[in-house]
Amino acid sequence: MSLSSDKLYKIFKLESEFGYENKAVVGGLQKLADSWVNEARSEGIAESLVPAISSILTHYPNLNIEERWGALQEIGDLLDIRAISSLPKPDQTKPVEQYLPNKGNIQSKTAQNKPRPNESFETSRKSPEIAEQVIHTKVNKRTQEISRNPIADVNAGLNAPLTVIRGVGIKQAEHLHKLGLHSIEDMLYFFPRRYDDYSQLRTISQLQYGQEVSIVACVQSINTFQSKRNRKITEAVVSDATGSIRLIWFNADFHMRYLRKGMYLSISGKTDFYLGRPIIYHPDYEPIDQQQLHTNRIVPVYPLTALITQRWLRRTMYNTISFWSSRLEDFLTNEILGKTDLPDLQTAIRQIHFPESQEALKSARHRLAFDEIFLLQLGVIRQKSQWHALEGTRYTVSDNWFDTQINKLPYELTNAQIHAINDIRKDLASGHPMNRLLQGDVGSGKTVIAGLGMAIVIQSGAQAALMAPTGILAEQHYQSMLNQFCNAVEDTAILEPSQVRLLTGDTSTSDRQEISEGLINGWIKLLIGTHALIEDPVIFQNLQMVVVDEQHRFGVKQRAALRMKGNNPHLLVMTATPIPRSLQLTIFGDLDVSLMDEMPAGRRPIETQIFFPMERERAYSLIHSQVDSGFQAFIIYPLVEQGENEETKAAVEEQQRLQQEIFPEFKVGLMHGRMRADEKDSIMKAFKNQEYDILVSTSVVEVGIDIPNATVMLIEAANRFGLAQLHQFRGRVGRGTVQSFCILIPETEDAMENERLQVMTKTNDGFELAEQDLLQRGPGDFLGTRQAGFADLKMANLSNIRLIEQGRHFAQETFEKDPDLESEQHKLLRQALDHFWPATEGVGDMS
Ligand code: ADP
Ligand code: MG
Repeated sequence: MSLSSDKLYKIFKLESEFGYENKAVVGGLQKLADSWVNEARSEGIAESLVPAISSILTHYPNLNIEERWGALQEIGDLLDIRAISSLPKPDQTKPVEQYLPNKGNIQSKTAQNKPRPNESFETSRKSPEIAEQVIHTKVNKRTQEISRNPIADVNAGLNAPLTVIRGVGIKQAEHLHKLGLHSIEDMLYFFPRRYDDYSQLRTISQLQYGQEVSIVACVQSINTFQSKRNRKITEAVVSDATGSIRLIWFNADFHMRYLRKGMYLSISGKTDFYLGRPIIYHPDYEPIDQQQLHTNRIVPVYPLTALITQRWLRRTMYNTISFWSSRLEDFLTNEILGKTDLPDLQTAIRQIHFPESQEALKSARHRLAFDEIFLLQLGVIRQKSQWHALEGTRYTVSDNWFDTQINKLPYELTNAQIHAINDIRKDLASGHPMNRLLQGDVGSGKTVIAGLGMAIVIQSGAQAALMAPTGILAEQHYQSMLNQFCNAVEDTAILEPSQVRLLTGDTSTSDRQEISEGLINGWIKLLIGTHALIEDPVIFQNLQMVVVDEQHRFGVKQRAALRMKGNNPHLLVMTATPIPRSLQLTIFGDLDVSLMDEMPAGRRPIETQIFFPMERERAYSLIHSQVDSGFQAFIIYPLVEQGENEETKAAVEEQQRLQQEIFPEFKVGLMHGRMRADEKDSIMKAFKNQEYDILVSTSVVEVGIDIPNATVMLIEAANRFGLAQLHQFRGRVGRGTVQSFCILIPETEDAMENERLQVMTKTNDGFELAEQDLLQRGPGDFLGTRQAGFADLKMANLSNIRLIEQGRHFAQETFEKDPDLESEQHKLLRQALDHFWPATEGVGDMS
């Protein structure tokens, strides 16, 4: 028999063992057509036969099982390969069942299977692993099989421990635990890190430099020798009908144990050339009479840990997926599957691990990402409706009272502010707890709106709390609230100054005592503070409204703790980082949103410019002239990721240089992240009191402090910051009515970076910048902190608005039909939802 005939026979034989399901070659036997034609020509097979055989192979997938057997026979006849006629007919084939997760099997297996540096081919040489093919047998066949087997643990669900997997003993299970894998389900959802696409099957004559390819070839020789530099070189020469190629491994002579002359291999790797002849260094290979896992397909590459090899894990994954993926029940209803082009769950899980094609992989990814977004949205919608269903105390005020409060402000509210306070007034009167996100760009005037809302609650005798992320900001709010609530204009004051209190880390023990008593007995109506507000044993008599400022700085748990202090208090969350729509629908999807997209009148837009490092002197002279006119300036140095040390050093050294060499006649302050909170606070206070003219700082000044006298924001190494963050820095100036400036100095003249920063000079619109930023950096960086509970989105990209809207649509539809997911068709969905939102970190905490 010729080389290519023998190869065909081997593949056909494997195909017969798989019951003619077109699985012997990944992607189907049709894939062989091209490479076979090439080989046939170089082997001198009669030209008249070539198109006929190629056409039989090409149409093989369209045939039924009976016809496939016939088709292979036909090829056998045409090429005169006798052995093919002995291939069993489909009905006589016993589809190779069955490896089952039964104990006896595992033990005997692991006993022989001492862990090896490289996965053994012993098991596969004469292929007991053919049983893996169960992945392709029908589900019902499998379940029958299970119930027939008395040893199989029929009830072992997807929670079963890893040791039920063939080839996984206690030791291997321990290694897998290190990858976070504890149950079968964890395995199914442990996705490849990347894929090597070896699905291009070629003949040796077709190989081109640098291509990632697969070939099917026969081993001609194998040997190991010592190189001059004392390296062990293992070399195998393999050939197909079109030529031969060398395979080379360095220091890996164990291949000698697996490879034999005459063996047919499927080989994958990257083609190289040495002295004009093709060669593949460190290829992967496996016998062709075995299901191909590591070659000749799109091969998954998994994250690894010590003592686990890629081949072993891939094989183990395959075993797991083969048996268990078909036990996954789809929680998406047929209705949703019907209305979308999503594959079913079993298919998606199989294809994400062992894709049959790039399209199948893409569609599996889409399905799994959809699942995450869909469940996320369902939880968020459910949470929102649960909140809306709760009872909250009603707070109403007369129009007269309301107008008086507004009229006594020293300025006119913007239309956006009026809309926002009307939203809040409605929420407070609704009888359900408010759960609102107030979004407004830096300087849009959110504080006064929060104050008005709290005034409504307080005027009817209840208490309110306002929580800020830093002491200095809390103090700034405290001053604003004193103005707003205790203003001396006759009869309009709502509170006495002693009824408004500030609680921060700095508060003295005796003040704490007093505050504590005042809160319990109800005298203190408005408490403003930092984390101390929730950390201290603060007990309120009747807390009815909670405002959280700059909310992305607060953790989920902290907000939840604050809520617990009252009985379903009204909650207002304020953020100056504009939240793009995709995040509004997801991470903040349980909140109602008020948007303040208008700046108070009379503000001059901040003038933003990019200066190159060489032009730094110009920036300094701008600062000079501004400080000479009595204004102040910020100079920001970047946060260097490698550690705060480096960051602080930059700021520290620069402060000295600036003070001594550039601005000797001015006072230059310094603030950085390694200072204690109270140190930072006192520096900020000193700056606010104009004890410094210039403040050198790291990114710690980002959060909403109001220093109207500052008119210059100079940002060094601006390219290191995200646009949203730069916008926050810029918001530190321009709070007064005079012209302010923001100067960005990138580290280099890099054109790309420069282009990114250009956006800053073109717009002052925080929303536009936030959208850009989210696109450029992704949601994790965008939010500054990882939002708890969302770290486990493995597939979904939170900036993929199309996916998010699709998920949203179906979540809403599902929720409207069956809010509690009580119907039979939603039983599995309900479980999946509870799984996605475990009680402990449920959406209750999400605000
Ligand atoms: P932010 O939304 O960034 O928290 P603030 O609430 O701190 O903004 O407001 C910024 C400044 O604008 C404050 O000094 C505040 O008194 C002032 N302000 C708020 N609303 C108006 C308005 N309608 N007209 C003029 N100034 C306003
Ligand atoms: Mg603010």
